Amino acid sequence: MTAITKKICLVGDFAVGKTSLVARFVKNVFNEKYITTVGVKIDTKQQQVGEHELKLVIWDIAGENAIAGTRASYLRGASGYLLVADGTRPDTLETAIDIKRQVDAIVGEVPFVGLLNKVDLTDLWDIPESQFDGLLARGWDFVKTSAMSGEGVEQAFERLGARLLEQ
Ligand code: GDP
Ligand code: MG
Repeated sequence: MTAITKKICLVGDFAVGKTSLVARFVKNVFNEKYITTVGVKIDTKQQQVGEHELKLVIWDIAGENAIAGTRASYLRGASGYLLVADGTRPDTLETAIDIKRQVDAIVGEVPFVGLLNKVDLTDLWDIPESQFDGLLARGWDFVKTSAMSGEGVEQAFERLGARLLEQ
């Protein structure tokens, strides 16, 4: 069966765990290469979604800031994206809202899944339920993840994959 190939991007504030999430998801299993000129790391992973074989081409930008992640050259051609926030830093959720606006302006309203990462740090978890509920009310779909423990990571990528094939 021929795989359907889709590009996805990781976006989010600095240090929310984008690179760690990709590493957790693809570790030891996939090809990877660096495109050093634009500072982007590209990994691929194939997954079974229903009756389809989906090949995700996962773009993770090296620039450690939110601006870099919203550059048109990085986002162009993306079929969807993972919007990552750090559950121990509520401001990264505010940044995510801003980033989503910028991404929508560049690639249009493509599917995305929100990730509230670092759920393993329960003692430091600092996202008020009300803020979370507000996002759900906007129709955002969120998965709590931990790149450290692996919790929710596969699920988050799978959910985005399923969305991409629904289109
Ligand atoms: P990026 O800038 O968004 O790519 O973030 P990184 O993946 O480089 O992670 C930033 C820091 O957060 C690193 O020190 C990681 O080890 C740490 N980190 C990432 N994900 C998690 C997580 O789920 N739990 C914990 N405890 N630390 C994490
Ligand atoms: Mg990174």
